[in-house]
Amino acid sequence: MVLVRAECIQELWFRSVRAGEYRREVKILLSTKKLQQFKETLEARILESERVLANAEQETRANSARESDPGDQAAAEYERQTLAHKADVARQTIRRLSDALKRIRAGNFGECAQCGSEIELKRLEAVPWARYCLKCQEAREQH
Ligand SMILES: [Zn+2]
Repeated sequence: MVLVRAECIQELWFRSVRAGEYRREVKILLSTKKLQQFKETLEARILESERVLANAEQETRANSARESDPGDQAAAEYERQTLAHKADVARQTIRRLSDALKRIRAGNFGECAQCGSEIELKRLEAVPWARYCLKCQEAREQH
């Protein structure tokens, strides 16, 4: 048995606490920087979708104001549906992105809504609005 003096143990303990704190600080710093990047990406995508939505709404208004030829009604209806679909997709995207921004503000961004574990960074980089980790997402898709 090796006898270690109390001061040595204390010193070792302090050193490991300091190392732990340092690692934690680095982790927080990194994640803060990453979070800021995600926030910017989400905001940029929201702006993009808002533009798409505004365009679709504007086109819809312009189309309904235009007198359409009876022969063109099928084409006009098709265009109306296409624009409505485009607007729906944009609205849905904006909602998803805004929810992800809310999660950043609430401090639970990147946390799987199903199992609570961390969502893979690669997945978040590809899909910043992801709510589930890969495993839970795959399980949901199978059901
Ligand atoms: Zn999960």
